[in-house]
Amino acid sequence: MNVPLLDLRAQYASIKTEVDAAVAAVFDSQHFILGPQVEACEKALATYSNCSHAVGVSSGTDALLACLMAENIGPGDEVITSAYSFFATAGAIARVGATPVFVDIDPATYNLDQLQIPAKITKKTRAIIPVHLFGQMADMDAIMRAADEHRLVVIEDAAQAIGAERGGRRAGSVGHYGCFSFYPSKNLGGAGDGGMVVTNDSKRAAKLRQLRNHGAESKYRHAMVGGNFRLDAIQAAVIKVKLPHLDAWTEARQRNARRYDELFSRAALPIEVPAVLPGRHVFNQYVIRSTERDSLQKFLKENGVETEVYYPVPLHLQPCFAQLGYSVGDFPESERAAKQTLALPIYPELAAKQLEYVVRSTCDFHSSNALEAGASRFDAAAPLLHN
Ligand SMILES: *Cc1c(COP(=O)(O)O)cnc(C)c1O
Repeated sequence: MNVPLLDLRAQYASIKTEVDAAVAAVFDSQHFILGPQVEACEKALATYSNCSHAVGVSSGTDALLACLMAENIGPGDEVITSAYSFFATAGAIARVGATPVFVDIDPATYNLDQLQIPAKITKKTRAIIPVHLFGQMADMDAIMRAADEHRLVVIEDAAQAIGAERGGRRAGSVGHYGCFSFYPSKNLGGAGDGGMVVTNDSKRAAKLRQLRNHGAESKYRHAMVGGNFRLDAIQAAVIKVKLPHLDAWTEARQRNARRYDELFSRAALPIEVPAVLPGRHVFNQYVIRSTERDSLQKFLKENGVETEVYYPVPLHLQPCFAQLGYSVGDFPESERAAKQTLALPIYPELAAKQLEYVVRSTCDFHSSNALEAGASRFDAAAPLLHN
């Protein structure tokens, strides 16, 4: 059996009529950049994330970049973030000329360890970028407390966490800014690159609108230097059509996660399943931990199961940040995660049979690995597969 990590064609097939009509409407209008589609999408996303403003931008990366620019963060400034995230989080900080200051992660959730933030705050610190990794929110209460005490700006990197909740609050709505990505593999994916910044601050929203269009306050008048961070109408139209389906997709991801948890726990494999805190984990990824990660991944690949390592190199060890002076051993949990984590297929349309096959293959790996005589570990989980 072949199990892909993600099957976007299955999702498209389920909403093809709606998506095609929305895209056709954009072509009929020939209005491709910003405009009414983008405004409607912004309104819908603001409501969904419990924020009063949303500003459509060209990608999740540009969302982060525009927020840093809006705060005039640049050379000489420090921004605290996680050592274990997608590159864009730290890349955006470096691109405005500021210095990324890394914090290690909590090994249970892979989110930045809020307890390590205070020790990293200096006179130069301007902002904190917490990342809600894999779809579960970081401890925003603790982060906001540290930020408020030192008057720091908080930019939530919620690229993987649209719709996630913690303490009754939605991802993106707690900090001064929340950044979303519509990269196709995200929970709410577009037909290309796209992103959104949400905020409850009207002044910040207005500045972002200027920044995304070369800093123009009106046509050909530039009070500041921005960029071309505009969102395309086609992306906005697709996102708006997909948004009403997002909760059902999220619930399907959560069901898949529970099923994995159940089967893996019955099989008693030497792997760690994701820690789920109270709140709403939206499972952009279902990430297990194994001390035999590389051989497990190879075995699964040979058996038709596609997996991915998010992320094999922690940010402090990226060659482009060598001048920051970090070295191996600085963030042991990020480094351990980089060696042990493996994302399994979790997408909403994943069939029960496919999920069971992933579990069976993982059991097979451990059985052959442990040279266990007789029954496969999978047999322990088998009763569950037939109810
Ligand atoms: C995807 C992602 C981004 C960047 O989003 P793009 O739309 O691809 O630019 C930033 N941070 C995290 C954590 C992401 O997963």
